Amino acid sequence: MRDCHPVLPFTPFSAWIPSRSSVTDNVSSEPITRCCRGKSRGLSWTGRLGQWPRSIIGRCLLTALLATSTLPLAAAVTGGANETRRVVILNSTDPYLPAFLAIDDAQRKAIQANSKEPVEFFAETLDMHRFPRKLLDRDVVALLHKKYRDLKVDVVVTTARIALDFALLHRAEIWPGAVTVFQSVPVNLMQNRNLDPRTIGVPIRLELEQTLDLALRLRPATRRIAVVAGADDTCCGSTKRARQAIERFSDRADIQRIIGLTLAETLAAVRALPDDAVVLYLTMFRDGAGEPHVPREVLKQIAEASPVPVFGLFETYLGHGIAAGSIARYAAQGRRTGELAARVLNGENPATLGVQAPVESQCIADWRQLRRWKIDPGRLPPGCELRFKPVGVWERHHWQILGVLAVVLVQSALIIMLTFSKRRLRRVQIRLIDENAQRTRAEALATRLRSRLTRFARERSLGTMATSISHEINQPLIAIQNYAQAARRRVQTGRDDTPKLIELLAKIEQQAERAGAITERVRSVVNRNAPELRPALLCPLFEEVLGILEQESQNRRCRISCDAPDALPHVLADALQVQLVLVNLLHNAMHAVCSGTDYDRNIAVAARAIGDQEVLVSVSDRGPGIDPARAEDIFEPWYSESGSAQDGGMGVGLAIARAIVDAHGGRIWFEPNPAGGSIFWFTLRTAPP
Ligand code: ADP
Repeated sequence: MRDCHPVLPFTPFSAWIPSRSSVTDNVSSEPITRCCRGKSRGLSWTGRLGQWPRSIIGRCLLTALLATSTLPLAAAVTGGANETRRVVILNSTDPYLPAFLAIDDAQRKAIQANSKEPVEFFAETLDMHRFPRKLLDRDVVALLHKKYRDLKVDVVVTTARIALDFALLHRAEIWPGAVTVFQSVPVNLMQNRNLDPRTIGVPIRLELEQTLDLALRLRPATRRIAVVAGADDTCCGSTKRARQAIERFSDRADIQRIIGLTLAETLAAVRALPDDAVVLYLTMFRDGAGEPHVPREVLKQIAEASPVPVFGLFETYLGHGIAAGSIARYAAQGRRTGELAARVLNGENPATLGVQAPVESQCIADWRQLRRWKIDPGRLPPGCELRFKPVGVWERHHWQILGVLAVVLVQSALIIMLTFSKRRLRRVQIRLIDENAQRTRAEALATRLRSRLTRFARERSLGTMATSISHEINQPLIAIQNYAQAARRRVQTGRDDTPKLIELLAKIEQQAERAGAITERVRSVVNRNAPELRPALLCPLFEEVLGILEQESQNRRCRISCDAPDALPHVLADALQVQLVLVNLLHNAMHAVCSGTDYDRNIAVAARAIGDQEVLVSVSDRGPGIDPARAEDIFEPWYSESGSAQDGGMGVGLAIARAIVDAHGGRIWFEPNPAGGSIFWFTLRTAPP
C-alpha cells in the first residue's frame, strides 16, 4: 500500500532511518525507525528493544506486538520518558471556521495542560465540503502517507464526521499505531457503529427537539416550523433521526423544509414565511447549486431576510442572527476532547476510555434578538443563559463606582473634619487674638502704671533726698551770697581792684553752675523713664548714695557701712536708677532697724563679683526681718505691711526696685539674715571689657 519514496531529508531523524531495502514492508519500518531514535537517546523502552532484535523477523515480531497490542505495555513502549508526542488534528472542512477555531483552541490547551510529555501538533484538513471526497480521497491519502510515513503519530483528533470516517478508513496506512479521538460528531451518528478499541471520542448531542421546544415556548403562537439547511446537510436535518425528531412537532405546527435549495431560493422562501412561523437553521456548507458557503455567513442573510425569529443549534450562530437554541458549547467540546487525548498520550489504554458521554447542551439566548422579536426573556426556561444583554454602568463598573464612592466618602469626611478643625482653629485664633489684644492692653496699662510708679517713687525718693539736696544747694547759694557781698564791699570802698572783682564774679558763676547741676540732677531723676545703661563703677555710686542719706542716717542714729572691693568690674547701669534702688533698700533698712529700740542699727552694703558676668550687691540689716512666706509678696506693688513701722510707706518701693533691676537684666530677691533681720540681694550685669 505505501509508495517507495526514499526517506525525506528534512526530518531530523533521517540519519537513523534504515533504507527501504532493509525493510520488508511498510508496517515493519515504523518500529525500526523508532528503535533507532530511541537508541540515539539511550533512554526509551523502544531504544533498548531496538538494540535487541537484530533480524527482520525480530523486527516484524516487535512491530506486530506494538501495532496490535492495546495492553499497557504498548503504552509503555510508545510512552518513553521525555519523548515528544505527536498529535494530528484532522478537520473535515475549513479549520478556520469560527466553531473549529474555538474547539481547536480549547483542545490544544487541554492537551498541553494535561500531557506529561511535550506535544507536537500537526493540522490537516480534508476540506471535503468544497472538494468532493470521491475525487480526491486517493490523492489525499497518498499525500498524507508521504508526509507522515517517517513520523510516529500518537493520536489523530478528528473534527466532524467526515474526518472520523476518513481516519477510520486510512489510519492504519497513514498513521499506524495512532489512536483516533473524534469530536463534533452527533451522538446519533455514532450509534450502531462498531468502533475498534483504538477509536474513542466525545460526541455531541444536537438538541433539535430541545431547540424546537424552546422556539415554541418563546413563540407559543407558532403554526409553522421552517427547517433551513444546505444541500450537504449531513449533520443535522437530513438524518433519519433528525427527520423523526422534527416530525414529532408536526402535530403542533406545519413543518416546512427549505433544504437543498440555492441560497437565493432559500432566502426567498424564508422571506415569504408568515408571521406565525419560526425558522430552525441548521447548516449550509454547500447550497443546491453546489456553491460553497460559510454557514454563519448564510445565517446572517437568513436572519436579515426572515420576518420571524431564527433558532439554531451552534454556539457560533449566537450573536449572528439566532434568537436562542439548545447549544453545546465549543469550548467544552474542545476541552473534553483534549483531556481525553492527553490521557491517551499519557499511556492510558484507549480501550478502557472508549466513547465518552456527549457534551451537555444548554439553553442560550441572544437578548438583542429577543428584543427584536418582542419575546419576553421571562419565558426562557430557568438557567437559560442570556447573552449580549447590555450591561448597565452599575453592573459593568460597580467596583470602580464603589471605589470612587469610598474615596469620595473618605474625602468628604476629611473635608468635614478639616472644616470643623479649621473653624475650631479660627475660634482659637480669634480667642488668641483677643487674649493677645487684652494682654497688649494689660501690658500697656502695666507700663503706664509702672511709669507712674517710677515717677511716684522718684518723687518720693526726692522727698528723702530733699534734705541733702537743700543742704547741697544751700552751700553754693551761701557761697554766692558771700562772694557777692565781698564784691559789693570792694565796689563801695571805691578800690580799683578789678582783678579781684573778676575773680569773685568767676567764683559766683562757678557756684551758680554747681547749683544748676544740682537742680538738673533733681530734674533728670524726676523725668527720665527708660534706663540708659552705661558702664559704671559701683563704688562712687554707693558713696554718693551714702552721702545723700547721711543726714537721715544721722537723724535715725544708724550706721551704714560699705564693703565694695576696688577691683570690682564695671557694671552696665543707669547710675541714677541704681542709686534709686539702693536708696529704697537703705531707706527700708533704716525704717526696719528703727522700728524697735532693741535692734542693732548697723546696716551693711556689700558688693562682689560672681564669675565675670555679674556683680552681686547686698543690703543687710538686723531689724525685725520679714516672714519668708512673704518673700515674694513684698515685691508686689502696693504691698505694705499693715502696722508697718515704715512711716508713710505705700508698698511700691520694692516693686519699683524689681522693675529697675529687671530692666538692667538682673535679679532682686529677699533672704532672711542668719544673724537676724533681712538681706536684700540684687545683681547687675558686668559691662563688656
Ligand atoms: P514701703 O516701704 O513703701 O511700704 P516697700 O515696697 O519698700 O514699700 O516695702 C514693702 C514692705 O516690705 C514694707 O511695708 C515692709 O513691711 C517690708 N520691708 C521692706 N524692707 C524691709 C526690711 N529691711 N525689714 C523689714 N521689713 C521690710
